[in-house]
Amino acid sequence: MTELSRRNFLLGAGAAGAALAMSAAGVAYAADKKDSKEEDWSSQVTEEISCDILVIGGGFSGTASAVQAGENGDKVVLIEGQSALGGNGTGVECTNAYGLHPNSGEATLGDMVRYEADAQSYTVNQMFIRDMISHAAENVQWLIDNGVQYEAIEDLDPAYLAMYKEGRYRAEFSFDYVYKGGAAGIGYFPFMKKKLAEYGVNLRLNTRARDLIVDEGGNVAGAYATDTYGDTIKINAKAVIIGTGGFGEDADRMGKLGVDLNDIRIIGTPGHYGDGVTMMIKAGGIEHGAPAFGCTNIIGSAGPWGPIWDKLCWGGPCLWVDINGERFSDEACSTYTHNFELQNVPVRLAGGTCWSIMDKNILETMLDGDAEAAQLWDEMVAKGDDSYKADTLEELAGKMEGVDKELFLANVKQYNDLV
Ligand SMILES: Cc1cc2nc3c(=O)[nH]c(=O)nc-3n(C[C@H](O)[C@H](O)[C@H](O)COP(=O)(O)OP(=O)(O)OC[C@H]3O[C@@H](n4cnc5c(N)ncnc54)[C@H](O)[C@@H]3O)c2cc1C
Repeated sequence: MTELSRRNFLLGAGAAGAALAMSAAGVAYAADKKDSKEEDWSSQVTEEISCDILVIGGGFSGTASAVQAGENGDKVVLIEGQSALGGNGTGVECTNAYGLHPNSGEATLGDMVRYEADAQSYTVNQMFIRDMISHAAENVQWLIDNGVQYEAIEDLDPAYLAMYKEGRYRAEFSFDYVYKGGAAGIGYFPFMKKKLAEYGVNLRLNTRARDLIVDEGGNVAGAYATDTYGDTIKINAKAVIIGTGGFGEDADRMGKLGVDLNDIRIIGTPGHYGDGVTMMIKAGGIEHGAPAFGCTNIIGSAGPWGPIWDKLCWGGPCLWVDINGERFSDEACSTYTHNFELQNVPVRLAGGTCWSIMDKNILETMLDGDAEAAQLWDEMVAKGDDSYKADTLEELAGKMEGVDKELFLANVKQYNDLV
């Protein structure tokens, strides 16, 4: 075997996303992950209630919907599987409010739609983006009218403010306000919860929707849910709104997208088993559009690589190639849109696997003298689990599962020529 040259050996790392830690808001059914899709809930009903509107899921979407329906005078039931409202919204600093930033004065609606669509690599429905942007001001006003509290970012912790101003936490045209306390769990949900009570919304925590009720005409007429005690509730409703968030904990669905839950660390609050998607498909819904699985449950490797992980997945001075070994993106994307890598767009575009290719110099620059990160890196390489090093590009290509060697070599050459 050739002696490894410290200067020249090459490294490849398979990356599946980026991660931050966020504490759990509740544990109501954390242990209840059993597959209940085929269960006959109608035969187990112990309680039956009726309403105009049933809202399933008490995150941002569900809570806002329930407040709005209550405000409209509807009889509303809101069920949330966890023991608290908030879902992944709990730790959210702020929701972008387009067009409200002083610098956005010159920007047109089209400019803002393009900016956001570009940030998502055109993988999301632009009609939704347009709707969100054009109603930003009235939505913020509605929240304020319902008691939600904001504070200027200038009043925040200086270190946070510095990051925020760098642009990583704010879209180009959004305003400079965050929820009070810098988290929706403080400035948003407690106030919206008060409104739910004021409007007489029947809020049931620890209550997980299991199946939609579909009447003889094929219309959704409510849902079956279970509570902490395992009792089954039949909820009849004239309309059902589903706001169950993402499906990061649905092993089947994530598996189909090429993500093995054993290999990733899910961030966000627990309870994202994809119930809403599953129930809707069972009731006749059709899947539409690209899954944006970074949106509500950002995922990352189980390997705690410290700072190097961030640098690999959130852009960095590496060449990125897809599952075949082909370059697919401008790797500098993270310098102009944080959303690109945060929403796992690279991984999706790369067919589920994005290899970061670097040489020894780049690795050492990224490790920046961090001995612990260096050790973690060595351990990952020793395991040969998604991280490899080699003396030559040919040897490296042989280690990267599924990569077409010739294609890979041609892409590295082209990249180097361009650089
Ligand atoms: C760490 C982190 C930071 C983020 N920061 C920001 C940010 O600063 N700004 C921003 O705009 N966005 C941010 N996001 C994204 C944001 O959190 C989500 O877009 C948002 O929370 C989605 O709201 P939602 O109501 O659709 O889903 P969720 O917030 O996921 O809420 C879904 C709710 O449904 C409940 N549920 C699920 N299944 C059932 C069921 N069967 N029955 C009853 N209830 C059920 C869940 O428990 C959950 O409470 C962040 C996300 C994370 C993870």
